[in-house]
Formats: sequence, C-alpha cells, structure tokens
Amino acid sequence: MLQNFEHLKNLEPKPRLTVVGAGPGDPELITLKAVKALESANVVLYDALVDESLLSFCSITCEKIYVGKKPGESHSQELINKLIVEKAFALGHVVRLKGGDPFVFGRGQEEIDFANQYGLITDYVPGISSSIAAPSAAKIPLTVRGVSDGFWVMTGTKSDGSLSSDLQLGLQSNATLIILMGMGQLEAISKICQAFGKGEVAAAIVQSATTTKQKTGFGYAGELDLIAQKNDLRSPAVIVIGEVVRYADKQWWETVQKSINNYDKEN
Ligand code: SAH
Repeated sequence: MLQNFEHLKNLEPKPRLTVVGAGPGDPELITLKAVKALESANVVLYDALVDESLLSFCSITCEKIYVGKKPGESHSQELINKLIVEKAFALGHVVRLKGGDPFVFGRGQEEIDFANQYGLITDYVPGISSSIAAPSAAKIPLTVRGVSDGFWVMTGTKSDGSLSSDLQLGLQSNATLIILMGMGQLEAISKICQAFGKGEVAAAIVQSATTTKQKTGFGYAGELDLIAQKNDLRSPAVIVIGEVVRYADKQWWETVQKSINNYDKEN
C-alpha cells in the first residue's frame, strides 16, 4: 500500500501528521497547543513514557494505538513509520504523541522525514523535555551565576550501545552535564568523571521526574552507581553532574559550606 499512494493524495480530510511533545510525565505539563492537536486527531500513536490520561483529550472516535518500545515489545521504528502513513491515508490526522520533546532523543525528525516522503502535511508541537524538567523538578537549577554558565544534554547510550564522547568534552567545561538513557552506564560514567578529576563534583539521579513516582538521589559524580543503589533508582532517570546540584539539597549544601568555612578559619 505504501508504494501506491499518489492516487490518494487528494483525500479529505488531508493525510496529516503532527508530532507532539507530551511533556516529561505530569499530564499537566503538556502544552495547550498539544491538547488542541489531540482534540483534532483521528488517530493517536503514543509511547511508553506518555501518561495515558492525556488520551482523554482525544475524541471518542479517535483510534488510540500504543506503540511503546519497552524491552520485549516489538514495535520497530519501521513499523511505526508505516503505521503513521497508512493511518493518515485511511483516517486523516495522525498525532504522534511522544514523551518530553520529540526532537530530544525522540526520533521525531525521522518520523517527519518519512511522512514527508509520502506527501503528508507535517507539523510539530514542542514539549517540555525531561532533560530540563527532571533537574528542575528536583529543585536543581541548571545554571547559577558563577557556578555553571550553561548545560549540556547528552545520551549515556548511543545507538551502538557505546558511551558518547560528549561526556569527556563536557567534563572539560564548567557546564552542568545532563545525561539521558545513562542508567546502564553508571559505573563507566563515574570512572570517566574520576579520570577527568571530577569524581567529587556534586551529582544527582532523578527518576520518574514530575510523576507521583519521582525519586531523587544525591551524591558525587564518582559514585553514581552507589547513588542509584542506595536510593533504588532505575530507568527512566536523568543524571545531573555539576555543582548546581548542591542548591537542591539545602542540608547537604549547608554541611559542605560549614566545613569549608571552618577550614578557611583554621587555615
Ligand atoms: N524525548 C524525551 C527523551 C526520550 S529518551 C524527552 O525530551 O524527555 C528517554 C530517556 O529520557 C530516559 O531514558 C530518561 O533518561 C529520560 N526521561 C524521560 N522521561 C523521564 C522522567 N519523567 N524522569 C526522568 N527521566 C526521564
């Protein structure tokens, strides 16, 4: 069917894809524009990290299809791309609802490119990415004047399973490092931090940020696996490395401050 679409191009309603960011987890963190897209959808294809209560914005007739890719589930990207095109030609407006922002490690561009090849009208609604929302939900500021001038968002696991070289580059700056999909690489990340003399930089792991299951662990960059163990943290989680982390945990920060002040007085 996908090969012979030309004669279907004049269909009404027009075959259309809107790639929509659902936000980081809390359903209230979706945008108004995203809600409007859901209301007008004939089909919604949604991911594992999307809160299903958002589907209540869709009409009763809207077809809702789960296409999550949790381990053991078989929705390949190829199948999702085909579904988008087939459903758009069959029913009209397809909304592709993805966790966070679909252009942040979300393959949003691949889906738009594929849909464009088949002549679909495509549109995009940004979402609040967990890369920003997870630290902020744990009260970690991403930048603080004089502490961190910026932040890097990177993946802990590239598509070939290896660790991104961005980590080494980021560790040579004073920016806050935000690592997504890094829970399988905690030991390796900590070792690299130590190798770059950053083992004692403050760090946090924020799990299921902005949801009712949110949990945060604090510690140092050189002991990320220990932070995860102590606090029983697992995916989905964001790792934050940088001295800005100290601003989240007041008690810890005050203890650190006191010991620095005492040291200064004594020396
Ligand atoms: N497009 C998404 C990211 C998809 S990659 C976004 O912009 O947020 C999936 C990774 O995102 C997870 O492995 C985890 O690192 C992170 N993630 C997504 N939702 C999260 C949440 N609620 N809390 C913590 N991390 C989350």
